Formats: sequence, structure tokens, C-alpha cells
Amino acid sequence: MSLNNDLSNLFATMAAILEIKGEPVFKAIAFTKVSRWLKDSTLDLADLVATGKLADVEGIGPSSRRIIEEFIRTGSSSDFQELSKGVPAGVIGMLDIPSLGPKTISLLWKSRNITSVDELKSAIEKGELAGLKGIGEKKIAAIKEGIELRAKAGGRVGLPAALAAALPILEELGALPNVVEAKIAGSLRRFRETIGDVDLLCAAKPGADPQSIGRAVAAFPQVQKVLAQGVTKTSIVTFDGLQVDLRIVPPANFGAALLYFTGSKEHGVRLRSRAIDQGMTLNEWGIYRTSEYDKSAKKTGEAPSVKPLASRTEADVYKVLGLPYIEPELREDRGEIDAAAAGKLPKLVELAEIRGDLHCHTTASDGANSILEMAQAAREKGYQFLAITDHSKSSVIANGLTAERLLAHVKAIHKAAEQVKGLTLLAGCEVDILADGHLDFEAEVLAELDWVVASPHVALRQDRPKATDRILRAIESRYVNVIGHPTGRMIDQREGLPLDFARIFRAAAGSGTALEINGSYPRFDLNDVAARSAAEAGVMIAVDTDAHSVGGLEQMMFGVEVARRAWLTSGQIVNCMTPARLTQFISRKR
Ligand SMILES: [Zn+2]
Ligand SMILES: [Zn+2]
Repeated sequence: MSLNNDLSNLFATMAAILEIKGEPVFKAIAFTKVSRWLKDSTLDLADLVATGKLADVEGIGPSSRRIIEEFIRTGSSSDFQELSKGVPAGVIGMLDIPSLGPKTISLLWKSRNITSVDELKSAIEKGELAGLKGIGEKKIAAIKEGIELRAKAGGRVGLPAALAAALPILEELGALPNVVEAKIAGSLRRFRETIGDVDLLCAAKPGADPQSIGRAVAAFPQVQKVLAQGVTKTSIVTFDGLQVDLRIVPPANFGAALLYFTGSKEHGVRLRSRAIDQGMTLNEWGIYRTSEYDKSAKKTGEAPSVKPLASRTEADVYKVLGLPYIEPELREDRGEIDAAAAGKLPKLVELAEIRGDLHCHTTASDGANSILEMAQAAREKGYQFLAITDHSKSSVIANGLTAERLLAHVKAIHKAAEQVKGLTLLAGCEVDILADGHLDFEAEVLAELDWVVASPHVALRQDRPKATDRILRAIESRYVNVIGHPTGRMIDQREGLPLDFARIFRAAAGSGTALEINGSYPRFDLNDVAARSAAEAGVMIAVDTDAHSVGGLEQMMFGVEVARRAWLTSGQIVNCMTPARLTQFISRKR
């Protein structure tokens, strides 16, 4: 994620290309050394270049220095382009496969004319590598496995899956005898909707060998492959194909490291420039007075010799910068630092403030549990209300209810309500918004309901004017309390409706119609950015799970995380109302 990392990868690739081409080995060795130094170094490269101190660093010769300077200036390298001339891009791409080194790639390219991962895959399948000198059956099997692993690990993983994979590892890590403290960092800590790699951070017991922690983690049962193992960093791939990077730091530097490795990159850049403006230097070890920091001794992988102004906790570091603590979900460079400086950060909604769920399904349509089971589960969660909202007739594959079945269902819900004390059970429906904006039921049917979610399920490739009119029309109905998953998007599967949000937000705010954050992955719809603009336009937000089973109610935590990333407070969320306030909200529109 850092400049050092990007440059380290650049030098490693250049070393590999030299080997693939069969150039004298000493050149490749020099680049490999620079790559390793860059990976381990905690020095601020841009700073070193700006102050002309890069020349003092041992092992970085004039040609490497030129490459670094050019890369910092332009983001690319002409030496790299020159070097990779004549080597097909697909050959360089083969370097991404674990267990496949430059020498083998060179052999495959020159003797079998294999110039891409796909060609390699098909050659293995056809048995064409047999008899190739130096590549035995075992090696072929390892390459095959590497290709599969790469395909799995290459894609991003959804937030719920990444969290489910990371939490047990975090727990085992935290229980190791030499670990004082362990936390998730990176985009997972910020609860982004999809995750590339999982970043973990831990503080080692003073005096303990940090490498012993890395070794212990490499032996965890989840580990399929160890990608790298250094003194303070270990990278593994789990059996789910997820890459996990662990960094080990001293307890005294834990907060600064956590801040650094949580990101986002852009948030970090802002913080560092704020530090510079105040004569301070901020890095993963701590925040320092620049005049003292520049004079201090710095060694790769160790804390600078001078005492930091703060480093133990993130809050300490923010405080030195004149800022209150900023929640990880806000650290996206979306105005959070200015808001923090002005004392205008929102008090983000918390899961404990949610009083109920307003969108779920039962066996009456496509759910797995009965009304009573859903209601009891909600009660056990401490909820004060729950809306049962099964599908309407047009959702045929979801066993949608006809008007007749719906009215019988309403009676069943009212009956169940009598059996669950302390829970307001709302008889509702998730009514389809048809392609032209008509609702799936007539007004007189809707009038029998306590709560109406209106959602688009089909015709999700409409153009903007049509799609916008469609949703606006649903908002106009006095019976519609919330638009469910308003865009219909599915992360990594479909874009959803291209809505004119400004018009929709105005109409929703003006009519007292809520818009939903659907907390079920891969929906997360509205997303964080749209939900924030909606709330800023005065729209009330409903955070729902769209649960299709008792277990589905647990997805509320993800809906709340989307809401937190949207800067929402409890006052902007329908689910945080008391049952009495909720009744008012409903009756005001009717
Ligand atoms: Zn739906
Ligand atoms: Zn639903």
C-alpha cells in the first residue's frame, strides 16, 4: 500500500526480467537487494529524495537511485520499460504465480514458446511439459496448484467472508504467549465492502523474539501457504484463498502502526501533510518533532532512536495533531480531517442503538423460518419491533403472495404478535415496484398493512430517466414507508439502476419516505456514499437485514457498518426510533 512497497515490487520485477532474459546475474542480485531494502525500510523515500539523502543510503547505487527518483516524480520508470522490451507482458505476468520462478519461466518461454498463464495452464493439461529438462512431475503439480491459488487469491473477497476468515486467526494470534495485543487493520478494519488482503497487527511482548510469533502463525490450521516470512512480517494464504499479512511491532509503537496500517492511504497522506505543516514527522513508529527525528538514528525494522511525541495509541497520535479520535470507518479522505479539526465529527450509530429490523422474510414467501420463529429471534436480540415483509405476487420465483394470501398472512402475523410479549410485530410486505413504477398491489390491499417496503427486483437495466421515474412513482404512494435496496445493485455482479439521486432524495425527504441500507451482502444498497448524501438531504434511512432466516438477522452489523461509513447518527435512522416514534413516522405519511 505504500510507495516503498510499490518500488520494492518494481525492483523485484526488474530483477526477475533480467533473469528471464538471461542477463549477467550480478545485475539481478543488485536489484533484488534494493527491492528487499525498500520492503523493510521504514524511511520516508519521498523525504529522502527531497532532501538529497538517498545518496547516503548504502547499497543503492546511482542507477537504482535514478529509478527511484523518476518513479517518485512520474509514477513510472523508463529503465523498466526499456528492460521489458522484447519480453511479452504475459511472460512477466507469470511471475505472479507462487512456486514459479524466473528461471522456469525463461525455460518455458524459450523452449516451449509459452507466453502467458493461460498457455501454461493448457500446456499442463495437455501434458506438453513432459520431458522438459529440469521440470519433473512434482514441479508440474506445484505450478498447477500455484495457478489455481493465484486465481482464487487474485479476486477481492466480500466483507462478511473476509471477516469470518479473519476473526478466528485474530483470536488465535491474540492467544499466543508472546502477543500483548492484536488487531485487524487495513480495509477490513474500515469495513470496506470488499477486501483484497487481510492486514493483522500485533504487539510483541517486550524481549520476546518477534519471529517466534510469525512462525506460530505460519503453523495455524487455516494456513495453506506461507508466502513470506521475515523478522517483523509474515504473509500467508488461507485455505479460502485469502492472503493475510501480519506485522509485528513493539507495544510502545502499536497505535502509530495501527493508524498507519489501517489506512486509507489517502487519509494517511492527509495526516502526514498536517504533521509536516506543524513541524512534525508521522510514520508507522510514531509522531516526532521533525528537528529531533532528522538527527535520530534509524535502522531497518527498528524504532527510531529518538522518543516520539506519541505512539502508544491512535488517539494519542491524533491528539498531538490537534484532532479528536477518528473512527476507522471515516478514514477515507472524505472530509473527516476537516470535520475533526472543526469539532464536527458525527457520533456514529452503533449496533446497540438499533431497536428493530424492518425487512425480513418467512416461510410464507422464500424465507426459512416461521413468523413466530423470526419474532422470537428478534425478541431475543433485544429488539422492540420487527416488520415481517414477505414478497408480493410478481416475485414468482420467491413464492410471492397474492392479495388473498397476503391478507391471510397479515392475520397470521397479528396472531403471532399476541404470543411474543414485548415486541411490536408489524404486518408488512415487500411490494415489487414494477418496471413502470406501479406497485404490485392496489392501494386498498396496502392499506391493510402496518409497514410497506417497496423494492425494484426486475428490469434493472433501465435508463436513468425511466429508472428515476419508476422509483419516484413508488415514493409518491402514501403507503410506501421505505424503498428497499433502491438501486438493485449486486456487488461484482450487476450495476443496478442508474438513479438521479438528487431528485429521489428530495422526493423521499419531502414525503417522509425512508431509503434503505440493505445490509445483506452482496447488496449493501444504498452504499455508503449514496446513503450519506441521502441523509444530508434530510432523508431518513432504514438499516435492514432482508433476513431470509433467523440467522440472517445477524447481518444487521453489516448494515450498521455501511451506515457508519455513511457518517450516520442514530437520529437519522428509522430503526433507532422507539416504537411510538416509529408509529408516528408511519402515520405522518398516511
Ligand atoms: Zn428484495
Ligand atoms: Zn427482501
